[in-house]
Amino acid sequence: MEHITHWISGQPWTGPTDRTGPVHDPAVGRVTARVDLADPDVVDHAVRTAVEAAAEWRRSSLSQRTRVLFAFRELLAAHAQEVAAAITAEHGKVLSDALGEVTRGLEVVEFACGIPHQLKGGYSEGVSTGVDVHSVRQPLGVVAVISPFNFPAMVPLWFVPVAIAAGNAVVLKPSEKDPSASMVMARLWQQAGLPDGVLTVLHGDRVTVDALLTHPAVRAVSFVGSTPVARHVYETATAHGKRVQALGGAKNHMLVLPDADLDLAADAAVNAGFGSAGERCMAISAVVAVDPVGDALVQRIADRIGRLRTGDGRRGCDMGPLVTAEHRDRVVGLVGAGVDGGADLVVDGRLVEPDGDAGGFWLGPTLFDRVTTDMSIYREEIFGPVLSVLRVATYDEGLALVNASPYGNGTAIFTNDGGAARRFEYEVEVGMVGINVPVPVPMAYYSFGGWKQSLFGDTHAHGAEGVHFFTRGKVVTTRWLDPSHGGVDLGFPTHT
Ligand code: NAD
Repeated sequence: MEHITHWISGQPWTGPTDRTGPVHDPAVGRVTARVDLADPDVVDHAVRTAVEAAAEWRRSSLSQRTRVLFAFRELLAAHAQEVAAAITAEHGKVLSDALGEVTRGLEVVEFACGIPHQLKGGYSEGVSTGVDVHSVRQPLGVVAVISPFNFPAMVPLWFVPVAIAAGNAVVLKPSEKDPSASMVMARLWQQAGLPDGVLTVLHGDRVTVDALLTHPAVRAVSFVGSTPVARHVYETATAHGKRVQALGGAKNHMLVLPDADLDLAADAAVNAGFGSAGERCMAISAVVAVDPVGDALVQRIADRIGRLRTGDGRRGCDMGPLVTAEHRDRVVGLVGAGVDGGADLVVDGRLVEPDGDAGGFWLGPTLFDRVTTDMSIYREEIFGPVLSVLRVATYDEGLALVNASPYGNGTAIFTNDGGAARRFEYEVEVGMVGINVPVPVPMAYYSFGGWKQSLFGDTHAHGAEGVHFFTRGKVVTTRWLDPSHGGVDLGFPTHT
């Protein structure tokens, strides 16, 4: 059985390990590896190593840093299949989807290649007689990135390239459920010329995370995961004086107006509801059908589900298994609660016949109709292949429903009415909005992040906000000696 350990100082950790956790292949349901779980003493050792590396790395020129970034970009593109295979083997998502997340991650690397432009400061000549002012942004030092299981490559890539390009050292704590993609990428960074210690990969669980959140040398934390853990991370790390962006859970709605193209809307609902088996923070889990489109839309979605093939992600299927048996059982329990709660079960994914090993963590696409907001299948983030249709009488009722959600990650409206779409864009209280686009994940040069309980902290990931998060501003006021200087004046400096 494979043993996966930490990546510290540019090599696998050879020190003692007290605790390990299992890594599964979800499509066969077997444990394929054991991953080390770092205790606080290993965290302390790794962070100290990173502190030393950060001090050197911040001195490297922008040209030296971007040369590493460009080389990493080429290596990641060349090894995309290898990273994708590692994702499918541990997460279960189908290979094409795994490759898709590597591609979206690559876009952030490409954005980070332009870091010299992003770090340009301002300069004002002659703000006062003989006085000039300029601003710079400097790295923070050691920053921690803690990522979830559902995007083992893309979410680390939202942060790591930007933080490194800005001159920081990064300690990455990937999900212990699918740790291998991070290890493949750590080796690629080294091949690209990144000095040892600038990127550390520490595997672990809540013990590891808590040690990072409270370590005095960690300056900032970028976290992505469920809302309760995001809140814990935000409260703990800010209490320890750190800068924090903690992206949390989601419950994304798709509002379908009566004038929408229903075939387009049904395609979108199926793609966004069942892609990656619903294990996406931008998945659509609630379709809000404005009267009278409900019956026709549900029929179209059900027809499309009937053509989906669930199975092993290496066999060209449309949808893979869930990540663990425990998670599958939780989602199956929620499906049962939906039936008991009175929702109409249109397609029952529990009856799926997968193209894969009988031991896999299977649940097929599931469709509920006439779901109401008091049901647990609506209130809870299911994070599985379960799509709920809710029916409303008007646009205003639909908007109020979306805005009443405690989450505000993503949403979409389907309509051919530009005025209605424009109104929705203005009125909806959600951070990322799609107009006839079901999964509106922003490009790398914009910033990714939700509102309300989908984000704790105020800075979103990548784009200009990401650069801002990983740097701090400094303003320098300069006067060179000239005949006009001198004289004691205790008054507050004003500009003349
Ligand atoms: P999770 O919260 O269980 O775990 C996320 C990370 O936190 C992992 O690295 C894990 O080891 C660590 N962790 C888990 N429990 C912890 C605890 N009690 N204390 C400290 N650390 C802990 O999330 P997950 O199941 O890996 O990922 C799925 C969740 O992530 C979903 O809720 C999904 O919506 C969310 N997510 C959000 C976004 C976003 O951009 N908002 C993106 C992807 C995933």
